[in-house]
Amino acid sequence: MKQFQYIRPSTQQSVIAALSQPGTKIIAGGSNLVDLMKHGVMTPDKLVDINKLPLRTITPIKNGLHIGALALNSQVAEDKQVMEKFPLLSQALNAGASAQLRNMATVGGNMMQRTRCPYFYDIALPCNKRNPGSGCGALEGFNRMHAIFGMSDKCIAVHPSDMAVAMTALDATVIIAGKKGERRLPFGEFHRLPGDTPQLDNNLAKDELIVAVEIPTNNYAAHSYYLKVRDRASYAFALVSVAAALDIDNGTIRSARLAMGGVAHKPWRLTAAEKALVGKPATAASFEQAAQLAMQGAKAFKDNAFKLKLAPATIVEALTHAAGLV
Ligand code: SF4
Repeated sequence: MKQFQYIRPSTQQSVIAALSQPGTKIIAGGSNLVDLMKHGVMTPDKLVDINKLPLRTITPIKNGLHIGALALNSQVAEDKQVMEKFPLLSQALNAGASAQLRNMATVGGNMMQRTRCPYFYDIALPCNKRNPGSGCGALEGFNRMHAIFGMSDKCIAVHPSDMAVAMTALDATVIIAGKKGERRLPFGEFHRLPGDTPQLDNNLAKDELIVAVEIPTNNYAAHSYYLKVRDRASYAFALVSVAAALDIDNGTIRSARLAMGGVAHKPWRLTAAEKALVGKPATAASFEQAAQLAMQGAKAFKDNAFKLKLAPATIVEALTHAAGLV
């Protein structure tokens, strides 16, 4: 591993000041970054350990819940307020990684984790995300885990987070601190599509820090479900996952929230399907129709055509569970 400097500042200002130096990266749980450094995929000159910052609390706010960026994945998943008000988030977190990793990984780190595309992790292979301009090994190579929505000819990778899929469906907001103060970004706008710049995973500037995520109060707690389809029962990334949340009044859907994971470079929000569900009865027929709408524009590659069938089936299954029909 390349040698690097390590600092552990105790104030947000010192962290942000340190980030303005090129080659500087934040470390919190380190559950993805350390692997990437061992493989030579990321080679920072300096690590800024942010674990001294007071960003670990989960606190109720006027219209929702404020979750500090350093709150651990396991801490959030098991938090009483989260389990009661946002069970979808709790389910998604518990579907991610292993218990050991959830005890180390933070909310901010979960958002910042890199794709698990195998070409990205092998520095002998071409990858536009790791080495812009070198080509995309997955495009004509092994692409079973890759995107069916929103990809470009530069990159077809998917974002690996489960938590981010639930946060997107729950209309969370990311709070970001920088030199000029704080800014707020809808969670669904935090991650990017690859376009011509697949090296950029998200819209966080190099000298900015995620400080928290806020989730607004909603009426979905009684009818939500996170369904993750993967190659083995635990510790595997999603082939397809669906975060489904419904507000049902007397059998009729008042509003719906849907997002998919494992299908795009960012959590994939299914807005057309959400709109189509409003006013419909909470039945299998409505869910099938929404799933067909959600799949419009999907495109498969050599090894991942199965996702074109798996994704709509997973949407229907997640909605069926959310509605309490099974
Ligand atoms: Fe790299 Fe993206 Fe292509 Fe994977 S899909 S090889 S991450 S450019």
